[in-house]
Amino acid sequence: MLKETMRAEIIAIGSELTNGEKLDTNSQWLSTQLASIGISTHFHSTIADHIDEIVDQFQLATQRSDVVLITGGLGPTLDDLTRQALAKLMEVDLVLDKHSLQIIESMFQKRYREMPERNRIQAMFPKGSEPIQNLHGTAPGIWMDVPHTDSKTNCCIAAMPGVPSEMKPMFQQSILPRLTQGSSVIRFVRINCFGVGESKTEELLGEITSRGRDPEVGITAHEATITLRIKAIGESVKVCEQKISETYAIIHKRLGDYIYGYEDEELEHVVVTMLNERHLSLATSECGTGGLLSYRLTEVAGSNGCYAGGIISSIHSPSGRQLNSAEENKPALNADAAIFLAKETREQHASDFAISIVLDVDQSWQDTENIPQAFVALVADGIELTEEIGLTVNRAIAKSRVTKVALNLLRQHLNSSTKE
Ligand code: AMP
Ligand code: MG
Repeated sequence: MLKETMRAEIIAIGSELTNGEKLDTNSQWLSTQLASIGISTHFHSTIADHIDEIVDQFQLATQRSDVVLITGGLGPTLDDLTRQALAKLMEVDLVLDKHSLQIIESMFQKRYREMPERNRIQAMFPKGSEPIQNLHGTAPGIWMDVPHTDSKTNCCIAAMPGVPSEMKPMFQQSILPRLTQGSSVIRFVRINCFGVGESKTEELLGEITSRGRDPEVGITAHEATITLRIKAIGESVKVCEQKISETYAIIHKRLGDYIYGYEDEELEHVVVTMLNERHLSLATSECGTGGLLSYRLTEVAGSNGCYAGGIISSIHSPSGRQLNSAEENKPALNADAAIFLAKETREQHASDFAISIVLDVDQSWQDTENIPQAFVALVADGIELTEEIGLTVNRAIAKSRVTKVALNLLRQHLNSSTKE
């Protein structure tokens, strides 16, 4: 079933979605599920409960895609029109599936209730389609194949209930196995990088990121972390792994020390591991990040082994005031201030390393004249390193980014001291 260039699309049905009352979370979830088996989603669409518009969208979708996942509109009420739209699309009647009717009736019996006549519609299916059992609600799903106009290939449709707690298990138990049946193997590996921008990464990687390459290499950026995703398809896991390791070797050669980890690894995981391995301790001093750096570090299992603690201050706290003494009321945003804070916390915590951040969170973001800045410093015996960061985003991203820069400064220092 699974082929390399399979195109999927997702259609969410319900006027409560188009009028803004409810957010379509199903499409996002389904896209990530499809991505995990290597199927890329090309379209999301949301349609109100109007039969003709739903049929139009089904027509368009089934001709341009290989898989169409539909959620919503399978309920028993008059505004639930997915099954009728599918029958109209195929120009067939709705026919009763006795087995589905029995299941629905027995669900009502179990709740000591009589099945309302309206629920009978949920046991009706477009002729030629297949019911998909719903173990978590009354509405079964619908599976059907629609020939493409070239008649050589088919588009498969899976219509599922809109309620997320019914849709998710139905997708995982009944749809996913059908999509992957008899297919080749797909393997993914994620490589995480820091200290290099998205376009620079692409430039360094060169032809590796070109479309249609096997294995494929994609780049995504999230709060300054760059993630490369290698996707390999082959007849066995071994073949995929071989392809991935060859591509990884090229990536490693081109990106070198920008690579810090794999899969879900964050900079703090790497830093904590490195410090623990070397029996080194770290203290932090944060001005303007509300303790985000300390939070990141304490999220890592084993951080007690190296994290000595830290200071969270504002530009107006005692440390801040001391920095400001030269110029009254003007926050000291400079490398010296960062060094001062790092030294202060290192002394207080008697640690091997200290890293500090100086960020004025009340700066005017997106100031084109004076780009808002932050400073980080790393101190240890005989070491004073600083880095200046230009910030043009917003408060939350700035805080996230500066803490990552601080961790990366330490990671790179630890890396370089191993090589010496
Ligand atoms: P339906 O299957 O159309 O009767 O939908 C039943 C309920 O499921 C709706 O009232 C929504 O609360 C929820 N729902 C439907 N579609 C979605 C969607 N795409 N994302 C999240 N929730 C949904
Ligand atoms: Mg609905």
